[in-house]
Amino acid sequence: MGHQLCVPVHLVMEMTNAVSQMLKSLRSTDGATRNRTAWTRHNTCLCCLGAACGLSLVAIVSLLLTPAAVAIHAQLPAADTVFIGEILTLDRSHPKAEAMAVSAGRIVAIGSRSEVEALATKNTHKVEIKGVALPGFADAHIHVAGVGEQLEKLNLRGLTKAEVLAKVAESARTSPDGSWITGGGWDEGFWHPAVFPTAKELDAVSADHPVVLSRIDGHSTWINSKVLTLAKIARDTPDPDGGLIRRDAAHVPTGMLVDRAQELIRSVMPKATHAEQEHRIRLAFQQFSRWGLTSVHDAGVGLETISIYKDLLRKGELPVRVYAMANGEAAITHYLANGPESDLGNGMLAVRSFKLFLDGALGSRGAEMTQAYSDAPQEHGLELIKDTDLERIVLSARQKGFQVNTHAIGDRAVKRALVAFEKGGVTPNDRFRIEHASIVTNEDLPLFVRLGIIASIQPVFVGEYSRWADDRVGPARVHWVLRTHDLLNAGVILAAGTDYPASDSGSPLHTLYCAVTRQAADGKSERGWYSDQRIDVDQALRTMTAGPAYAAFREKDSGALTVGRYADFTVISADPYKVPSDDLRALTIRMTVVAGSVTFDSAEQ
Ligand SMILES: [Zn+2]
Repeated sequence: MGHQLCVPVHLVMEMTNAVSQMLKSLRSTDGATRNRTAWTRHNTCLCCLGAACGLSLVAIVSLLLTPAAVAIHAQLPAADTVFIGEILTLDRSHPKAEAMAVSAGRIVAIGSRSEVEALATKNTHKVEIKGVALPGFADAHIHVAGVGEQLEKLNLRGLTKAEVLAKVAESARTSPDGSWITGGGWDEGFWHPAVFPTAKELDAVSADHPVVLSRIDGHSTWINSKVLTLAKIARDTPDPDGGLIRRDAAHVPTGMLVDRAQELIRSVMPKATHAEQEHRIRLAFQQFSRWGLTSVHDAGVGLETISIYKDLLRKGELPVRVYAMANGEAAITHYLANGPESDLGNGMLAVRSFKLFLDGALGSRGAEMTQAYSDAPQEHGLELIKDTDLERIVLSARQKGFQVNTHAIGDRAVKRALVAFEKGGVTPNDRFRIEHASIVTNEDLPLFVRLGIIASIQPVFVGEYSRWADDRVGPARVHWVLRTHDLLNAGVILAAGTDYPASDSGSPLHTLYCAVTRQAADGKSERGWYSDQRIDVDQALRTMTAGPAYAAFREKDSGALTVGRYADFTVISADPYKVPSDDLRALTIRMTVVAGSVTFDSAEQ
């Protein structure tokens, strides 16, 4: 007891908290562990951490020697819930466990069943893991409101042109004249011939309804003549900056608007009300829980969407962690003036990054290419932001502590992003990202590594790209496309997502399947598309968990199942390491858990 009297009681409390924090960060950093032996193993390095925190070495040593300090080590909080079953932690030092105990949303113990169950009291819930638990799946690039909106409109994925037109005709028959028909997900890659469609084809089935159908990538829109008229898009309408109105030989618009040209119809389309927008977001969240997602990076949101997230968070109705990338002038100006919101609600919401668009998409021929498109020798794609503007935003974002996430698909856009980052003095600590990084030249690979640029990739794109990328870029460049294995081999940090609804699927199990097999999410391709770019199950799972966690500055809290991290996990039907790769897409989600709370349980469906 004599030791304790050396320092006042309140100071002991303060130092105790500081040491406990340090221990927590140590545990979460290296993935160790739960018992007293493991904790004491770390004591040797506490002094350097203590110095960093302003605690003297003497204070720490004396604290660690006091009975009070020992008691802290021995005291683990009682568990709210104990989950029992097969657990793959993705923690390299302890890859498997039989149970984990959760208190206040974090893992307080993970290991053998007997060790963990010792923490249960009569009030502890016991939940059986009916399958295999993995760290919660994250999607590093998805469009939340877009997912909800897609659930409300015609889903045209995988359809032939005749099937698309039949769906529109059916919708026109059943909805009042003049009402808008909207849909998304069509891809001419499924059609023969694989050419962009026209307004005339839609007019034949829907003359009395305005029709707006987004291409799968969301970077171009197919409209009918009714919409062309309403939006006053005619022969003499100029292409807006960063946009293209596709035209026939007589310069007449054909009914395809690319990138910024899509904004020409925005003012005549009915705008979703705040309530409708909130409804879409809720729909998307339900879908995410069914897909096994515990966190999503929303790749471009304005202030209204952010306010909806904050409302839901306040009401305790956010079932998924959201890492929101602010997009648009109003949101970026607001955040530059007010600074980042790095952690709202125990990691449930963060706004500390900006989303910028450098170019369009490859499928719509909006991706910015150094050399012309192989299937359109007059086209090089679109430049959506100028270098000088990009460099200005990079500088101010860095100064204010924001991460910059640039959409860049074409090789020229990727290079422009890297050059702007380098000019702006970006270092690996800034964790700047290139969203998609779809076409990367050999020359640019080392720059990713040197600047620590994260490649935010979408393995499900292999489906779309296998349908038309060979045509778009030709044989000399196709090896730069979706080069997942090359990026990983070069030492680039990868974070995987789906870009849904701008892709075939938003399911993380499809991400796993596509990354490992290089087949389309529907499993229909005969052989993997450029199968030398496959990665293995372990690599794929890490790009879906630890990768997004790092890309969101959350690696101490997420990305593996260890003591101190969030109790976020996904239970799937079988061990993905043991399943033949072709069967990965047959895996199903059994349960999704965020901060120890079950957000989806297949048994209740
Ligand atoms: Zn996107």
